[in-house]
Amino acid sequence: MDAVLRTVSGDPAGEARQAHIAAQPPEPARTDVLVIGLGAFGSAALWRLAERGVDVVGIERFGVGHPFGSSHGITRLFRVACQEHPGLSPIALRSRDLWHELGSRLGQPLLRQSGCLSVGAPGSAPVAGTLAAARAAGLPVTRIAHDRLAARYPQYAGLAEDHEAVLDPEAGLCYPERAVRAHIRAAADHGAVVYQDTRVLALELTAHGVTAQTPTARVVARQAIVATGAWLGKLVPGLPLRPRRTPLFWFRPRDPDDDAFSLERFPAFIRELPDGRVLWGHGSDAHEGFGIKIGMEDQGHNFADTDPDEVDRSIRPTADMAQLSAWVADAFPGIDPVPEKATVCMINNSPDHQFLVGRPGGDPRLIVAGGDSGHGFKHAAGIGELLAALAVGEAPYTGIGFLDPSRFSARRADR
Ligand SMILES: Cc1cc2nc3c(=O)[nH]c(=O)nc-3n(C[C@H](O)[C@H](O)[C@H](O)COP(=O)(O)OP(=O)(O)OC[C@H]3O[C@@H](n4cnc5c(N)ncnc54)[C@H](O)[C@@H]3O)c2cc1C
Repeated sequence: MDAVLRTVSGDPAGEARQAHIAAQPPEPARTDVLVIGLGAFGSAALWRLAERGVDVVGIERFGVGHPFGSSHGITRLFRVACQEHPGLSPIALRSRDLWHELGSRLGQPLLRQSGCLSVGAPGSAPVAGTLAAARAAGLPVTRIAHDRLAARYPQYAGLAEDHEAVLDPEAGLCYPERAVRAHIRAAADHGAVVYQDTRVLALELTAHGVTAQTPTARVVARQAIVATGAWLGKLVPGLPLRPRRTPLFWFRPRDPDDDAFSLERFPAFIRELPDGRVLWGHGSDAHEGFGIKIGMEDQGHNFADTDPDEVDRSIRPTADMAQLSAWVADAFPGIDPVPEKATVCMINNSPDHQFLVGRPGGDPRLIVAGGDSGHGFKHAAGIGELLAALAVGEAPYTGIGFLDPSRFSARRADR
């Protein structure tokens, strides 16, 4: 493979551009912290380290903001009352603050707080989980009782009599490609060196730190942050991760003149249907160039494990679309159930569906960030801040014991 190694800087439009193209880094290149994988978590770590004045190099196997990993598809749901774990709220809140600060610095919003509805039975994960997280973090969510929900959101069909919603007003949408490019631009502005289109083939832990082997050169560092998304297990073996192929779909209203599914009227949502199926999504915005997005939760059986190097990137009408189309027709009959657009993405599931952020076995040379389990983007900036703090030995701004990458092996040893 011909690796082209590029130093990336920002441009006024916010797109990463090549300021300098070098044939290869010096052999070996040396740095203090090496960040491998510049998607959601890695690009944010690079930014937060560079802002601290740390000597940091980032390596990305594809281009910045590419569509081959987990961080593409224009939008991601952003929530701060996180049903997945109460410990996540402080991380999402930190992302909110960091993205607002960076977005206003770059003149480009990285977050749109248009709200999110968590809909279902009172004891369902969307409703009970969101309320628990809001209580734990003191967040101002609003309960919307069944009758008001049905009247205000007539797009929702088949609401069971006890189904209600919790509105998280701080929630909304974030923008994966735009945010990754913004992180890289901010990092480059603070002196980070970035090599894109460069794959790390192997990472060796040495007596003094780490050595990463690329096709053309070695990069030597005191420590590495490995944030290679679906490929995390390829560079750091032994982590209990399962990459899953997860297609992403956009839809249109049945009536092209129907405005009921614009983002303003059809905000972001997670909805548990009466039979336990879970859909998530948000309305369209013509100005921002995105359609109605709807997806189904994996629930352990809706998607399949994949080798990220072999993932099937084609969309199969029956295998990929038929089930989701049927669910959309049941839940939102005003939407044409045949998707207008699709792309293939990947998530990387951990056994407890929480991320892995920290030093495996306490190793001073290595930090991992991954196991996103399909809900990581909203936390990217907050996790980048945690990774930077870990790398320089600062106390993290919130407790991250529940994300310890060694928690699974520790459990096995306890038995
Ligand atoms: C369909 C779908 C919907 C989702 N919806 C939401 C949502 O609504 N809200 C939300 O918060 N989250 C959501 N997520 C999850 C979120 O997108 C992920 O948690 C997040 O993008 C994971 O980021 P990451 O940094 O782990 O991986 P990535 O962003 O994929 O970054 C990993 C990077 O490492 C690079 N890399 C890999 N191997 C190497 C190597 N050997 N050398 C150099 N570079 C390498 C890759 O090219 C990639 O750029 C969704 C995910 C999917 C797939």
